[in-house]
Amino acid sequence: MPSHDVLIIGAGLAGQRAAVAAADAGVSVAILSKVHPVRSHSVAAAGGINAAVSVTDDWRSHAYDTVKGADFLGDQDAIEVMCSEAPAEVMHLEHIGVTFHRNDSGELDLRAFGGASVKRTAYVADITGQAILHVLYEQLMKYHETVDRYEEWFTTSLIIDEEGACVGCVARNIRTGSMETFTAKNVILASGGAGQCFKPTTNALICTADGIAQAYDVGAPLMDMEMIQYHPTTLVENGFLITEGARGEGAHLLNSDGDRFMEKYAPNKMELASRDVVSRAEQTEINEGRGVGEDKSGIYLDITVVPKKRVHEALREIVNIGKDFAGVDITKEPILIRPGQHYIMGGVKTDINGATPIDGLYAAGEVACVSVHGGNRLGANSLLDTLIFGRRAGEHAAQRAKGMAMPEVGEAQARQDEQKIAEIIARPREGRRISEIKDELGTVMNQYVAVYREEDGLQKAHEVVRRLKEEAKTAYVDDRGTVFNQDVLGAIELGYMLDAAECTVVGAIERKESRGAQYRVDFPDRNDEDFMQHINTTKNGGDAPTITYTPVTVTQWQPEVRKY
Ligand SMILES: Cc1cc2nc3c(=O)[nH]c(=O)nc-3n(C[C@H](O)[C@H](O)[C@H](O)COP(=O)(O)OP(=O)(O)OC[C@H]3O[C@@H](n4cnc5c(N)ncnc54)[C@H](O)[C@@H]3O)c2cc1C
Repeated sequence: MPSHDVLIIGAGLAGQRAAVAAADAGVSVAILSKVHPVRSHSVAAAGGINAAVSVTDDWRSHAYDTVKGADFLGDQDAIEVMCSEAPAEVMHLEHIGVTFHRNDSGELDLRAFGGASVKRTAYVADITGQAILHVLYEQLMKYHETVDRYEEWFTTSLIIDEEGACVGCVARNIRTGSMETFTAKNVILASGGAGQCFKPTTNALICTADGIAQAYDVGAPLMDMEMIQYHPTTLVENGFLITEGARGEGAHLLNSDGDRFMEKYAPNKMELASRDVVSRAEQTEINEGRGVGEDKSGIYLDITVVPKKRVHEALREIVNIGKDFAGVDITKEPILIRPGQHYIMGGVKTDINGATPIDGLYAAGEVACVSVHGGNRLGANSLLDTLIFGRRAGEHAAQRAKGMAMPEVGEAQARQDEQKIAEIIARPREGRRISEIKDELGTVMNQYVAVYREEDGLQKAHEVVRRLKEEAKTAYVDDRGTVFNQDVLGAIELGYMLDAAECTVVGAIERKESRGAQYRVDFPDRNDEDFMQHINTTKNGGDAPTITYTPVTVTQWQPEVRKY
C-alpha cells in the first residue's frame, strides 16, 4: 500500500504547486491525477495572472479591486495574503522559466483586465496556463526521488479514520481497473472545478466536481456554492472561451444597433467592468431584443479595432478558435458571443493555509473556497489563487506531517468502492443513459441557475436535480471492461456533479438578495444586513444539504455601493 507524508489529488496548477512546495520542505509526496498532468484543465487558461509588479502599482490596490469585484463577499484576510504574495510568486515563475511577455523596454508587460484599476495582468500571449503548467511539470521532474506521480489514476473516495481525520484515499488505476488504497498523513484536494454541471461551459470534460463532492461526502462544508461565474465572451456556437484579454487589448461589445452598450451599464470601465456586470449587461441587451445573430441571442465582440499585428502577437490562440470553431477571422469581422458558464467561486471551505475543518484534509485551487473571489472572481485572479494557496497548502501540510506518525489504514473503503463499481457495471440496460442525465442537468442549470435567477426557476431546478439523482442510481454503462473504462468513471462523475449542483441550487435559493454573480430578479438589491455572509452547505444524510452561515472577514474595506 503506497504511503506518503503528503498526498495531492489533482495535478493542475494548484496540485503541482503544492507538490513542489511540499517536496521543498523535505517530505515524501504523491501527486495523483485522472489525466496526464499537463492535460489538466489549467492548460486552457489564456489571458494571464494578476500581480502588482509594476512600480506604479501596489498590492493594496489589487486587494481593493478584488474585494470590490467580489461584491464584498470575499474574506479580506485571504485576499490580503493572495495579493501581497502575488508579486513574489510571479517573479518566481519567471525565474523558473515562464516566458512572460516583455515590452519594448524589456520590462514585464502587463495587460488590462476587468475590474482592475491599473494594468496588472502578466501573460504569455493567450496561452498563459499552458506556459506555467509545463514549467511547473519540469520542476516536478527534478523531485522525482521524493515525488511519486500517479498519472491516470482516478480517486473514488477520501478515507476518514475513527477520530475523523483524513488519512488517505482510494483510487482506481484507469489503465488496468485495479483499486488501490493510498495512506497519507495529509491529503490536499486540488481537483479543480465543476463546470460540467452546466451546458454549455468553457470548462473541459474533466471538470466534474470530483473533489468538491468527495469532501462533501465526508462532512466537509462547502462555501459560496451559489456563486457561479458566467463569462461575458463565450462562443454562441459551442460555449468556447474568447479570453478577456481581447477586451483588455481594446475590443468592443456591440448590440444590434451597433452601440457600445456598456456605456449605459459601466460608463467608467466600459467593457472592462467586472464579469458579472458585463454578463448581466449583455443578457439585458439580448432579453430586450437588441441581441445579434440568427435568433438574436448573441452580442458582437469586435476585435477588429485592435491593431492586427497586436492580435497576432498577443491573441493568436483566439484567432485560431475564431477560424476553427466559428468560421470567423477576428481580425476582419466581429465574432458572435454571449455569457457562458466559466468558473465556480465556491468550493470546499478552507482557511488561509488551505486547511479544511477536517484534520489532515486540505484543498486549494478551484476545488476550494478560501474565499478570495466571494461573489465574483476578477479575471486572472484564479491562476494566482491556485499558486498562492497551492503553495501554502503544500508547505502547511508538510509541516504537519513532520510531527506525526504514518496512520494505519485498512482496505475496507477500497472494497466498498470496488463493490460500487461492480454494481454500476452490472446494471441492466433499462434505466437512462449517463450522458442523457448529464445533458439534462447541464441544460436545466443553464436555464435556471444562470445570469438571472428567480425563486420558481430555482425550485424547478432543484426538483430536476433531485429526480436526476434518483435516475442516476439505475443509469447504465455500455463498457463492462477494466482497461480505460471511461464509461464507469462517467457514472461516478455524474454522482459528483449532481451533489455539487444541488448545493449550488440550494445556496441560490437561500440567498434572497442580489450580489456578484447571483442576481435574483425577485430580490434585485444587495442586502448587507442579512446576507453579507457566506452560505455553507454540508451533507445531511441522504436528504438536502444543511445550510449554515459564516460571517465575511472584513479587515479594512467596508461595503460600499459598487459602480464601474
Ligand atoms: C478556457 C479557460 C480559460 C481560463 N483562463 C484563465 C486565465 O487566463 N487566468 C486565470 O486566472 N484563470 C483562468 N481560468 C480559470 C483557471 O484556469 C482555473 O480556475 C484553474 O486553472 C484551475 O486550476 P486547478 O489546479 O484548481 O484545477 P485543474 O487545472 O482543473 O486541475 C484539476 C486536477 O484534478 C485532477 N482530478 C480531478 N478529479 C480527479 C479524480 N477524481 N481523481 C484524480 N484526479 C482528479 C485532474 O486530472 C487535474 O489534474 C480559465 C478557465 C478556463 C476554462
